[in-house]
Amino acid sequence: MKFECLKCGGCCKDEKTVVTLTHRDIIRLAEITRLGEKELVKKVLVFYQVNEKLEKLLAFPPIETYRGKAILGLRKRDDGSCIFLQNNLCSIYPARPMTCRTFPFTFSIQDGWIKYGIVTRARDICPGLGKGKEIDEDQLAEIGWKAITELKKYSKITALWKRVTQSGVPAIPELLIKLILQSKSGEEVTMAH
Ligand code: SF4
Ligand code: SF4
Repeated sequence: MKFECLKCGGCCKDEKTVVTLTHRDIIRLAEITRLGEKELVKKVLVFYQVNEKLEKLLAFPPIETYRGKAILGLRKRDDGSCIFLQNNLCSIYPARPMTCRTFPFTFSIQDGWIKYGIVTRARDICPGLGKGKEIDEDQLAEIGWKAITELKKYSKITALWKRVTQSGVPAIPELLIKLILQSKSGEEVTMAH
């Protein structure tokens, strides 16, 4: 398999591509934008509502909100492009979300091995697939391992948040974002009140 990012910006402009966010992404975004939880929710984040059927199909865990379950993602402009795309370049490149770092690849663990695949949408929008050099599988496995580890931790946080909201704490997204930001590294999110 060959791949080379041609820096066309296609993935950043695609209205159908959802840039999902983990706890680490939220911390990176808060650091680079210097926004607090309320402004992040208002200006940067989007909550894509999901129903039970969709939830079963997704590899990304939803969070509880007072409007129901939702996938946390990055806001887009009306034309479908990412709010951080400026002159066809990512204006937050060092802090770009994990989804952007791994695109056009997906990762999973099967029988103890990291397996990679191609994001379905990428086959339509990514001209870099099939171009350039053969991919370095060791390098790709390293990226995949980081992504899988981050997603596992995020899944634990969403499960913890679910338990907290079931115990009566209102499922207000700003509160979850605040707890994630308070954890600094995102490694030890506590939900005690
Ligand atoms: S669509 Fe593919 S080639 Fe274009 S910027 Fe995204 S990853 Fe790179
Ligand atoms: S954060 Fe950057 S890399 Fe990711 S979609 Fe937006 S502009 Fe593209």
